[in-house]
Amino acid sequence: MSIIVYTESEEGKIKKIALEAVAYAKGIADQMGTSVTAVTVNSNDTSELGKYGASKVLQVSNDKLNKFNAEAYADVLAQAAKNEDAKVVVLTSSANSKFLAPALAVNLDAGYVPNVVSLPESTSPFKVKHNVFTNKAFAVTEIKTDRKIIGLGKNSYGLKESEAAASTEAFSPNLDAHDFDMEIVSVDKATEKVTIADAEVVVSGGRGLKGPENWGMLEDLAKTLGAATACSKPVSDMGWRPHSEHVGQTGKPVASNLYIAVGISGAIQHLAGINASKVKVVINNDPEAPFFKAADYGMVGDAFEIVPKLTEKLKEF
Ligand code: FAD
Repeated sequence: MSIIVYTESEEGKIKKIALEAVAYAKGIADQMGTSVTAVTVNSNDTSELGKYGASKVLQVSNDKLNKFNAEAYADVLAQAAKNEDAKVVVLTSSANSKFLAPALAVNLDAGYVPNVVSLPESTSPFKVKHNVFTNKAFAVTEIKTDRKIIGLGKNSYGLKESEAAASTEAFSPNLDAHDFDMEIVSVDKATEKVTIADAEVVVSGGRGLKGPENWGMLEDLAKTLGAATACSKPVSDMGWRPHSEHVGQTGKPVASNLYIAVGISGAIQHLAGINASKVKVVINNDPEAPFFKAADYGMVGDAFEIVPKLTEKLKEF
């Protein structure tokens, strides 16, 4: 019996969220006294999987899987889970993982909990804590099925290293049941910049920046930090920034390590979407702005003075 973890890759390179999922799976494996088996699909990038806790890698190589197909990928993982007699399958919270999870749950007759934020509170009964209500609250759910599927929330666990060394085996699941009659034809990346979903650091601007012409200083700060840029809802509603940057209850959720809010008041609907970020910094000229209550660090002052100075200092490092 082992724990299966799906290690997603992009152009053959294992994603950081997948390495975090491996480390997390190792944490559960230690709780349950078992080991971690990572499953890769069309990727040879297995060197770091042992470092984060996998003791075995099942490498699937099949041209039919070059493009993501939820049913087929779910079947690959189901066959791997059955092959390894796994009781737990760990996924990330990426769009692809969320897309394949229901099919996998049906295939394995397993209970699935997404957005899990920490190691199970107990493994017998199996209870996990996860984000609910767009990250405004936590729930603890007991998964009662024999097999369990966990979607690890982004940046919830971290890249904890381990002593394990992974052996690699080719794994050839039977995909005869799939006619692959639906395929993703192309993916247009909207931008080459760091996206909000992948970002460790997000620099976000609000109505306090007065107009789109003032975003240059935020772009400069974001570039210096290797960060993604984001904005509050009114900013995107007014067309100052693209809707893809709108974060909050009705926008994208942010779970970065660092979230810097500039000229954003901190309305509850905004905070709902960024609560999962680890460290929140606010720059606002109104000391009574609600964001200061939610932030870890705050700077009271004019963003037009603070941001360029901050960027200048950061460039020295
Ligand atoms: P404001 O509230 O106008 O705040 C601007 C801030 O900038 C102020 O605190 C001000 O002190 C500060 N400021 C001004 N000048 C400077 C300066 N020179 N230097 C530094 N600081 C300065 N909002 C979201 O963001 N995301 C959502 O998903 C979202 N969903 C919503 C859903 C619903 C159903 C509703 C009703 C509202 C939603 N909102 C959402 C809107 C939300 O309620 C707020 O209106 C919005 O977040 C405010 O945006 P803001 O902070 O940019 O602007």
